[in-house]
Parts: sequence; structure tokens; C-alpha cells
Amino acid sequence: MKIIVTGGSGLTGKSLKEILPEAVYLSSKDYDLINYDEVEKMYQDHKPTHVVHLAARVGGIVENISYPCDFFEENIFMNSNVVRLARKYNVKRLLTTLTSCSYPNVSDEYPMVEKNFFDGPPAETNFSYAMSKRSLATQINASNKQYGTEYNYIIPCNLYGEHDNFNHGTKMHFITALIKKIDDARKNNDNNIILFGSGKPLRQFMHAHDLANIIKLTIENDITECFNVAPPNQNLSIHEMAVQALDAMDVNLKIKYDKDKPDGQYNKEICTKKLSDIFPNYEFLSLKDGISRIINSGVL
Ligand code: NAP
Repeated sequence: MKIIVTGGSGLTGKSLKEILPEAVYLSSKDYDLINYDEVEKMYQDHKPTHVVHLAARVGGIVENISYPCDFFEENIFMNSNVVRLARKYNVKRLLTTLTSCSYPNVSDEYPMVEKNFFDGPPAETNFSYAMSKRSLATQINASNKQYGTEYNYIIPCNLYGEHDNFNHGTKMHFITALIKKIDDARKNNDNNIILFGSGKPLRQFMHAHDLANIIKLTIENDITECFNVAPPNQNLSIHEMAVQALDAMDVNLKIKYDKDKPDGQYNKEICTKKLSDIFPNYEFLSLKDGISRIINSGVL
């Protein structure tokens, strides 16, 4: 088995490298996946049997609102090159990550199950990113149908982890930004933190270490199904998460809300039943343990 991992320098890629060091981890410095010829060279150089395709233009709500066309085009080009050329170079298994952001903005039923993925338009705040991931799902489904490939995707909820970028304001994911805000407030002796929106939207979050574990298990067990990935029974409001983060960091601060900033999607809870059927014994880190892991890593 020869595994290559695109997006190897990112949050998930670095977490995967800790538990699957034998794979080859690639970044945009190795190959720009937007460029067809460079993707072709990647396959020729490495001759992988397995590809874990994590590379993507990823960002928070502000970046998504500011650069919708870049998010769409970069992801569309990367994904179509990587999947199309995987077939040309006879890659046996390709596993990639979509996102729970691609589910409909509003659903008739929660939690949303895999069959709901294409049901209605995704949230306006990250529409382009979400649609590029729906296109990736479409390409994989079509490739399997027409060419008999056995490629698959998993659909993770929002991520956080010590390998996130703690110094890039608009690129940070919510939990990372929250931890940084709390840490900065503590260092500056402030007595409050200010969060965007109303604090009411519900979110599932998972430590990138858990996503990495699920990716590793999926490859090792040669699973070709497509399924949601999120910790079961954890769909907390932004406010509840902030309270838990303050508790995990042992800091006492008042939480204020900047209601002029957008909330984003209100609820995007995804169903974890299929995941539990596939990996019945897998145990996710709690939010508190995940945050402690970040603090213990010394990244702050
Ligand atoms: P990330 O930390 O933002 O890292 C992105 C990775 O993609 C980096 O390794 C980056 O390489 C690479 N990349 C970007 N543009 C590239 C290009 N043109 N050519 C080659 N490589 C390029 O990503 P992540 O947060 O770990 O996300 C991993 C996957 O999970 C993505 O597909 C994302 O859509 C999905 N996902 C993420 C979340 C989340 O909350 N983060 C939630 C659900 C799903 P450089 O370092 O060289 O730029």
C-alpha cells in the first residue's frame, strides 16, 4: 500500500501524520493541485495505490464572504484534477473530505442524514465553498457509477486542534479563535471576550485528531462507504461552547456578543448513526479534553 495525503501541511494532515507516519504528506509547495500538469506529475512521481485528498481552500465565515469566487474555483480545479487523474493512474482507493457546511441551510429533519446532502441550498455565507464540495461528491459518485471506481468521501463537522493556525485572524476556525480570544484576554487582564453573532447557533465540533483516526480506520478496514463524521450527541450552542471552553481553560470571563456580525447557519447537526454502525467502539474526545490537549501542546 502506497498512501499519499494531499493537504498534508494542514490541520487534518498534520494530525494524520502523527498516527499514520508511513504515508507521504504533500502541500502546495510540492504540487499546486490547481494545475493539471502538476497533479499529473504528483501521480507519476509517487505512484500511489491510496490517496487521502484533504487539500482545499478552507476558511472561516469572513474569508468565505470575502472570496467566494476563489473558494469555488480553487476547490473545483483541485478536486477535478485529483479525482480525474487518480482514475488515469489506477489509484485503488481515494478518500476525501467534504463538509457538513454543504448540507442544506434548513432541513425538514435534524440531525441530517447522508441522503439529505443535496436536498436544498446550503447557507449563503459559505455557498461557494459548500457547492464546490457538493461537486466533489457528484464527481466521485459519477466516477464510481460510470467507471467502477471505489472512491469515497466522508462529511466531517467543524474541526479544531493544536495544528490550526493560531496567528491568522480571519483563517482561524471557531474553537481555535475562541481559545485564542480567551488566552489573549487572560494575558491582557481583560474581564470579557466578545464573540460574533448572537451565540445561539448550534454547532458540532470535533478535534482533528478524531477525524485523523477515522480516516486511518477507514483505510485500514478498506471501507468504501460515504458517511458523516461528528461526535455523537454533541450539538452545542456557541454560548454553551464558550462556557465549556472557559471552564476547560479555568478562566472566569464575561461573554459578550457583537450582534452586528452574522450568525451563519442556525443548525447543521448531522446524524452519526452510519458512523456508529461502521465503527461502533470509536470514542471521540470531549470538547473539554480536546481543548486541554491544545493547551498541553504548548501552542498558545
Ligand atoms: P487546512 O488546515 O486549511 O489545510 C489546507 C491544506 O490544503 C494545506 O495543506 C494546503 O497546503 C493545502 N492546499 C491548499 N491549496 C492548495 C493547492 N492549490 N495545491 C495544493 N495544496 C493546497 O485544511 P483542514 O482544515 O485540515 O481541512 C482538511 C479537509 O477537511 C478539507 O478538505 C476541508 O474542506 C475539510 N473540512 C475541514 C473542516 C474544518 O473545520 N477545518 C471541517 C469540515 C471539513 P499549504 O499549507 O501549502 O497551503
